[in-house]
Amino acid sequence: MINFRCCQGFQDAVQIPAVSSFKVEKNGVLFLTIGYSKTDSETSWYEQAVIFCPFCGKQLQNPNEIALKTQGDNLENLLL
Ligand SMILES: [Zn+2]
Repeated sequence: MINFRCCQGFQDAVQIPAVSSFKVEKNGVLFLTIGYSKTDSETSWYEQAVIFCPFCGKQLQNPNEIALKTQGDNLENLLL
């Protein structure tokens, strides 16, 4: 369940969970899948924490709050 509220473009993008690239982790941080790599044995997904809505530019999350919520998580390049 994504409880972030923003513009209609964002709401449309998160309305269809099966195809949505947005997800909220257990720590409450909103992420966007930005790519993947595939090998013979596995597929790896690359996710980026969302700070600004990609549709209207509204700030949805604060980098400092994201850092606190993800402290201790095994995430690399979280705030590129
Ligand atoms: Zn928006």
